[in-house]
Amino acid sequence: ESPVSAHADPGERDDESTLRPRTLAEFVGQPRVREQLELVLKGATRRGAPPDHVLLSGPPGLGKTSLAMIIAAELGRPIRITSGPAMERAGDLAAMLSNLVEGEVMFIDEIHRIARPAEEMLYLAMEDFRVDVVVGKGPGATSIPLEIAPFTLVGATTRSGALTGPLRDRFGFTAHMEFYAPEDLERVLRRSATILGVDLRPDGAAEIASRSRGTPRIANRLLRRVRDYAEVRADGAVTLEVAKAALAVYDVDDLGLDRLDRAVLGALVRSFGGGPVGVSTLAVAVGEEPTTVEEVCEPYLVRAGMLARTPRGRVATAAAWAHLGLSAPVDAPG
Ligand code: ADP
Repeated sequence: ESPVSAHADPGERDDESTLRPRTLAEFVGQPRVREQLELVLKGATRRGAPPDHVLLSGPPGLGKTSLAMIIAAELGRPIRITSGPAMERAGDLAAMLSNLVEGEVMFIDEIHRIARPAEEMLYLAMEDFRVDVVVGKGPGATSIPLEIAPFTLVGATTRSGALTGPLRDRFGFTAHMEFYAPEDLERVLRRSATILGVDLRPDGAAEIASRSRGTPRIANRLLRRVRDYAEVRADGAVTLEVAKAALAVYDVDDLGLDRLDRAVLGALVRSFGGGPVGVSTLAVAVGEEPTTVEEVCEPYLVRAGMLARTPRGRVATAAAWAHLGLSAPVDAPG
């Protein structure tokens, strides 16, 4: 796996939890989401009731899990963490729901991947704090309603479009997480450097921030890689020169694109003449899962103006051709 991909390797999970912001005040950036969420939480606290269910939507590494944990912390409630793919059978979900304590926060990551029967059970749980447990099989089967404690569901998704309408409608509040501005990533980096004891200089921070694909998780990952380089090949200080040299070693280019991003653009341009091409075909060409290409690579390539999604497929923009050092055909989108 590439050292800069959006998902953590297990060895660095500990670091990831050390670097997680614990309160809304510590949570850098996303001012709109922070303000909206603050109102939701304060309103609920005043009424002494669990807040509405919250859906957090956005690309990986932008802070959805952190926010879910912050919601529980701000409410002073426990949190139970699971994921859509872990909920294969409705029974798994029923067991979890019936164990909730009053006011608990239940976090379901990748909620768009929840199996259908579990999803249907979730509707009732979210709306009426009730589940129907089916006992027996065939014509003799009966369903027994079971009360569950009022709770707050926090769902996270990298693809809110993949959620069914009924599920989406049951969330009282949806936070759309945006890629972070370079200044915000610099703040994330300064905070992380303090926690990790890294001597991060302002020009070094700016360089790492500008190559972090708008993503705090990647900023932290790059900081760790640059720290290694600074300690092994320099005097430990993360300066502009050290950051540049380290990022070159790790194949992170000046836009922050990593090997997979460049492979996607390269295939699109070289094998498919710039497109349009379907995302599955593109994924096969780079040897990746279509969901990885779609949910991890593409959002930033679109945002960086390198790739356009059209009804006929993915198309490389003129900027993509230029970034690969090639001249674009006349019909490439600008
Ligand atoms: P997601 O669930 O969206 O994939 P996470 O919440 O796991 O993202 O965030 C990944 C890491 O990025 C966190 O461990 C934390 O170190 C960092 N991070 C994310 N958002 C912020 C933020 N707003 N402020 C500071 N650090 C952040």
